[in-house]
Amino acid sequence: MSQELICITCPMGCHLTVEKVADGELSVSGNRCPRGVVYAREELFAPKRTVTATARAARACSGEAACAPSGEARLGGAPRRVPVRSTAAFPKDKVPALLEAIYALEVELPVESGKVLLADALGTGIDVIATRSIR
Ligand code: SF4
Repeated sequence: MSQELICITCPMGCHLTVEKVADGELSVSGNRCPRGVVYAREELFAPKRTVTATARAARACSGEAACAPSGEARLGGAPRRVPVRSTAAFPKDKVPALLEAIYALEVELPVESGKVLLADALGTGIDVIATRSIR
């Protein structure tokens, strides 16, 4: 039985048709380049995703009026969130646990873009970094 996939390796977004053949090998068609075969193999046997999310900023304001009761730093009335991402594609089955770990973070401000906020997340060797500098 064949499976349809869209290769997300580049903006071409080739529509792949993937079929399992003998010895667990794959037959891939619809790819415009060899990376489509690599993508199909990974997607079927060990899917991964780059994870982007936001983490809570720790209380970092000086005036009580500028701070949220929950302790979150606020900017213009909205809680401040720090955009983050994994430094590499993360095993898809571990993404929910990674998001839980990210949402448990309290990031001290100021933070520089590229700062590691979660090193070796879930023992994968992949870090979670801030993607924007926030003062
Ligand atoms: S198969 Fe090649 S050209 Fe097509 S989307 Fe994947 S990487 Fe891009």
